[in-house]
Amino acid sequence: DDLLLEVSGLVVDLPGRVRAVRVVDEVSFDIPSATTVGLIGESGSGKTMTANALIGLLPDGAIVGGSLNWRGEELLTATASRRRGLRGHEIAMIFQDPLAALNPTQTIGRQVGEILRRSGKSRAAVRERVVELLDRAGIPAPAEKLGSFPHEFSGGMRQRAVIAMALAGNPSLLLADEPTTALDVTVQARILRLLRSIQEDAGLSMLLVSHDLRVMAHVAHQVVVMYAGRVAERGATSDVLRQPAHPYTRALVDSVPAVRTKTALAHPLPGTPATPSNRPAGCAFHPRCPLARERCRTEQPALRAVAPGRWTACHFAEKVLDA
Ligand code: SF4
Repeated sequence: DDLLLEVSGLVVDLPGRVRAVRVVDEVSFDIPSATTVGLIGESGSGKTMTANALIGLLPDGAIVGGSLNWRGEELLTATASRRRGLRGHEIAMIFQDPLAALNPTQTIGRQVGEILRRSGKSRAAVRERVVELLDRAGIPAPAEKLGSFPHEFSGGMRQRAVIAMALAGNPSLLLADEPTTALDVTVQARILRLLRSIQEDAGLSMLLVSHDLRVMAHVAHQVVVMYAGRVAERGATSDVLRQPAHPYTRALVDSVPAVRTKTALAHPLPGTPATPSNRPAGCAFHPRCPLARERCRTEQPALRAVAPGRWTACHFAEKVLDA
């Protein structure tokens, strides 16, 4: 596969009250081209910190180990200006709250066209492209919306405008952090369909960060399940969700009735999530794990291949797979 981004052994420390807290610990995964990779986990799992590391949104010195290889180029040693140049162009972002991403005092047309104007296009060419982008993002009668302000749009329409803005730089990778969490359920489904069709049509890659397994099931080709700053499991979404090899993934799947249709009742995840500042020894999931044994309390399981294309960090992954 043609790899766009290779994340290997990423380690992120943030300052804590007493000492630095390891929020991302030896995280590795790939983003192949024209593929959607989902990063899933509860709050405190490190998923957003991992995504922020990729786009340089962490404080200086926070990344203490690992490598981010973007098409053969090491991002961690790239100059600040090179990284700024990547952001918004080759790597574009969509966040949870479209209002925060939009400037309330500027028209939608101006904001979507900003990156195009900076590239030196003529006014008419910028206008034409902005109309195209708004149309691609599913905004009806786009030519009439150029002069609208963000507050005149609904939440869903604002997120569409943000998507149009992200596409303006013609990115290879779209990074979407909880892009539908702030929206109504019916609007969520439409925005997810839009993102999926954009990914497919443009042949771009997407890194989708979400706590919602249903979102992953609909959009992501591959999924990376994170727990307490580490990768618990990764592989093709359909394999991982149909046959989890990690007890945490299994518990996640069982907590959502729509994903595991054969289960009549959803079983909420037992216990409370481990946090990076309060990380249990051994396997961080052991206080919540129904399969935990003595070994799990002391020995941290390594991420290892347990089936073709499938990596799991559990001492007893084979048992979970066979169950
Ligand atoms: Fe459970 Fe042990 Fe596997 Fe951790 S290593 S998920 S505690 S069985």
